[in-house]
Amino acid sequence: MFIWRLAHNSLPVKSNVARRGVLLDTICPMCKRLDEDCGHLFFKCKYVKKCWRLMNLEGARVELMKCQSGKETIQKLWELDKTIQLNVVVLLWRWWSARNKVNDGGRMQSEAEIQSSVTFFSMEKAYDKIPRNVMWWALDKHKVPTKYVGLIKDMYNNVVTSVQISDGDTDDFSIRIGLY
Ligand SMILES: [Zn+2]
Repeated sequence: MFIWRLAHNSLPVKSNVARRGVLLDTICPMCKRLDEDCGHLFFKCKYVKKCWRLMNLEGARVELMKCQSGKETIQKLWELDKTIQLNVVVLLWRWWSARNKVNDGGRMQSEAEIQSSVTFFSMEKAYDKIPRNVMWWALDKHKVPTKYVGLIKDMYNNVVTSVQISDGDTDDFSIRIGLY
């Protein structure tokens, strides 16, 4: 959802809100120096630049900054190496939530705090994926018939659970793995 809104330039960054006729100052809440639009907030703000650099993503930042629209930015993003892609997506998302905190009058997180939160979420996401791929590979390697591998995959894809509470069980709900 976050990425979709970024692609369609519909995130409520101040310049987008102002365009809809709402009167407010359009100054970036992070640096308080320049107007906030997506290009500034995610790629050019002096604080976000520190985060990109800290995460060794400066090359990706420069590439993405050249894009003219949200759509083009996302297309470029999908062309990047998978690991870099994951880190970039998580960085943009964590930066956006850090920005919202400041915009609501909260404390500004340091670059190091943002970096560790990005690392935490990327790891979690990666850990979700690797064991499964290894598992499919292992099942295949041990000549488990495709039919059963398919069955096991289905089990993993549609995990449903219910929680026992004092007056019985809750309705089934599905467990989705990962962040999104
Ligand atoms: Zn700024």
